[in-house]
Amino acid sequence: MTAANRPAIPVAKPLLSDEEKHAVLEVIESGQLAQGSRTEAFEHAFAEYIGTKHAVAVNSGTAALIVALQASGVGPGDEVITSPFSFIATATSIIACGATPVFVDVDPFDLNLDPNRVEDAITDQTAAIMPVHLYGHPARMTELVELCEDNELALIEDAAQAHGAEHQGRRVGSFGAGCFSFYPTKNMTTGEGGIITTDDDEVARMARIIRNHGQERRYYHEYLGLNWRMTDLAAAIGLVQFGHLEAWNSARIANAAALSQEITAVETPKVREGDRHVFHQYTVRISGDRDGFQQRLQEAGVGSAVHYPVPIHRQPIMQQMGFGEADVPVAEAAAASVLSLPVHPSLTPEDIDYIATTVNRVARAE
Ligand SMILES: *Cc1c(COP(=O)(O)O)cnc(C)c1O
Repeated sequence: MTAANRPAIPVAKPLLSDEEKHAVLEVIESGQLAQGSRTEAFEHAFAEYIGTKHAVAVNSGTAALIVALQASGVGPGDEVITSPFSFIATATSIIACGATPVFVDVDPFDLNLDPNRVEDAITDQTAAIMPVHLYGHPARMTELVELCEDNELALIEDAAQAHGAEHQGRRVGSFGAGCFSFYPTKNMTTGEGGIITTDDDEVARMARIIRNHGQERRYYHEYLGLNWRMTDLAAAIGLVQFGHLEAWNSARIANAAALSQEITAVETPKVREGDRHVFHQYTVRISGDRDGFQQRLQEAGVGSAVHYPVPIHRQPIMQQMGFGEADVPVAEAAAASVLSLPVHPSLTPEDIDYIATTVNRVARAE
């Protein structure tokens, strides 16, 4: 088929059905709209899936990061070592706690925080390390856990893109305080929402307090908190979506394998042996004119996106606030060449053929 008689393939597509509609209607009929029994059920299901003792639901992935940092004791004067090659919330959540993000370069293999470089960045001010499992590929957690243990640092995982990803047989989000997002384009959604997973009783207790105005007992506020609570409307959607997560992850992984088999003209994503990449994004590297490449894909009806065109330390607000210094050539090169292609579970085998053929054709014409 040609582009003219083929509907365009979007780069992301949330999957919602009558099941979610009915679940939301039930919550409305129950009259309990704010955090209640659905949220609690969702927390139990998610904690069991990740393999942690606790899960604390909040109203966004950004909220999960802020609450996890604060619950781990990160605050003003602290430094948090993180990746410059991520969504802005990775760093702004650190700043929201009054702490300073310290950007360390990424590993060219998976574009995640490079543990070899993290060690050199640890100072007396360092309070935590926050790796990102970018695109759904786990960061090198075994080494990062060791660094945190040796230096008595908190470990906060930005797992917003990595529901179900595994590092050497263990789910991400179970190494430290795991922070997941349920924004509509993620591997599963609650509309807006997030969750913190942890084995640490104290981090879980503090996260529950901080998400609810710093109170354990109603109207007695011992800590500084805000309203980060998830609604039962969102949790009801989440429970339905969660039932599909593994099937959707498997579909993403199969789609990625098929794309990598057929795409020969550009560099395709790698997966570390022993790890499970859940392909929130399927991201190739374009060596030449990426804007032109993306334009020609668009003309052929293949959606794509750049995650991310500007490394965090180069963002105007980071420069203005004095967080713009970073020696991160690998992240800079990645920002100039990455391009994400459709990999979502609703792609058909014909879609995959078409995406691969189009990518190969456009690349060879460059
Ligand atoms: C989506 C995302 C977030 C933020 O999650 P929200 O639910 O949109 O607040 C944080 N970090 C990364 C890496 C993300 O992809």
